[in-house]
Amino acid sequence: MINITKTFLPTQEEYNAILKRAWDTGWMTNRGVLVQELEAKLKTYLDIPHIIATTNGTLPIQIAIKALGLTGDIITTPFSYVATTSSIVWEGCKPVFVDIHPDYLTIDETKIEAAITDKTSAILATHVFGNPCAVEDIEQVAKKHNLKVIYDAAHCFGVTFKGKSIFEYGDVSTCSFHATKLFHTGEGGAMFAQSKELHDRLYYYHNFGHKNKEEYHGLGINAKMSELQAALGLAVFPYMETIIEERKKIVDFYNENINFELYDKLRIREDVLWNFSYFPIVFDSEDSLLRVLKQLNNIDVFPRRYFYPSLENLPYINKRNCEVASDISKKILCLPLFVGLQEEDLIKITEIINNHI
Ligand SMILES: *Cc1c(COP(=O)(O)O)cnc(C)c1O
Repeated sequence: MINITKTFLPTQEEYNAILKRAWDTGWMTNRGVLVQELEAKLKTYLDIPHIIATTNGTLPIQIAIKALGLTGDIITTPFSYVATTSSIVWEGCKPVFVDIHPDYLTIDETKIEAAITDKTSAILATHVFGNPCAVEDIEQVAKKHNLKVIYDAAHCFGVTFKGKSIFEYGDVSTCSFHATKLFHTGEGGAMFAQSKELHDRLYYYHNFGHKNKEEYHGLGINAKMSELQAALGLAVFPYMETIIEERKKIVDFYNENINFELYDKLRIREDVLWNFSYFPIVFDSEDSLLRVLKQLNNIDVFPRRYFYPSLENLPYINKRNCEVASDISKKILCLPLFVGLQEEDLIKITEIINNHI
């Protein structure tokens, strides 16, 4: 069976060797040596000033909303994973959806301003499939209207824009290290703040608000990464270059062999170093998609309709019309892309895709 992704695993020996260090200290969480080592490695690799490793990629979004003191309406994208919208609602704010750009699939920056009211406190947008939002335009609009900016950068491990890590844009950026993501710790994530002051606030928020053992800065929650998670991350980390190279080969294969007269593909923004995280194709209609999906399923290949459905359809949302997102989410399919995917399988997959008419 071939799924959209397959979790990259180092050898068990490699994992155990790192795990043994946790065993030797008897220290399983509360920012032990492994979490600190992982943070240090990621800071260098990503070339960023601050990082806080977290237990998943959703709590950082919620913590960012809380720590920035956001209230009222938050402008967001309907084309993301549910965690983007659910975090807004969970924090007692209201998501206001702005439609997406049909080629880049990120929030349409030209439509943001029209959605701003005196209730708007922030923009929470997703860099989709590793393809960044129009961060400079968004920053301009945000400055003009005194709004905070949070980026759900769950897909963006290693992505740069104009030579700078994409995690350095927005007041806060968040990432996911879930097992299905490019770099992973099983479950895990991280958050990144622009300013040291905000970094410090996020830091204590993720650790119950502790200042020290007996004093508190204020409110907090528990979003700490454990040593067990960090150990897996440290075992995966040395493979990052290989993982990205291997994925690039598959992306190249798709790019060279799929008939793009029949499909639209993701347009990567200029000045972006992309990370080969997903390979979506957009069909001419949902019917075509369902037909091809069925044929692929018949040979035991299971791509994923991602993101589907579009988030303005969630049951706890007041329905709102986002034409582009709603249309594209019905017609988009993410193809299998993972280390170890064989060329013979790629050939079978592209044959079905090219012969669907
Ligand atoms: C994976 C993902 C998340 C959630 O991350 P978890 O680590 O699973 O909590 C949030 N947003 C997007 C866009 C994602 O793809």
